[in-house]
Amino acid sequence: MSNTNFFAEFFQAQDIQLSYCCAGCWSFLNIYHADEHGYRVTCDRCGDDRGFVRKTWAEHRLSDNAGEAIEVRALLRKLKVLPESNRTADEVFKELGF
Ligand SMILES: [Zn+2]
Repeated sequence: MSNTNFFAEFFQAQDIQLSYCCAGCWSFLNIYHADEHGYRVTCDRCGDDRGFVRKTWAEHRLSDNAGEAIEVRALLRKLKVLPESNRTADEVFKELGF
C-alpha cells in the first residue's frame, strides 16, 4: 500500500505512534485496525493526509515558540500595543474566579 498511514503489523504502527506526532497539529496519533490493510495510524483531528513529524522536533519547536512569544509580548508592551500588566497573580486568579 502506498499510503504511509497503513502498516501491515501492529508493532510498525506502534513504532510510528511512539516516535511521531501529527504534522498538522502536533498532537498524539491513534492506531486503528483496518481490515484490509492491517493498521492505520492517524490524527483524529486532521485526518490521514497531514503526515507525521518526529515528536522531538515538535517539542523543540514548541519550546522555541514559547520563547518567541515571551519576546513578542515584551516588545508589544514596549510599543504600547499591549497594556502593561501591573496585576498580581492573586488579582488575576480572583478575576478568573479562583
Ligand atoms: Zn493533527
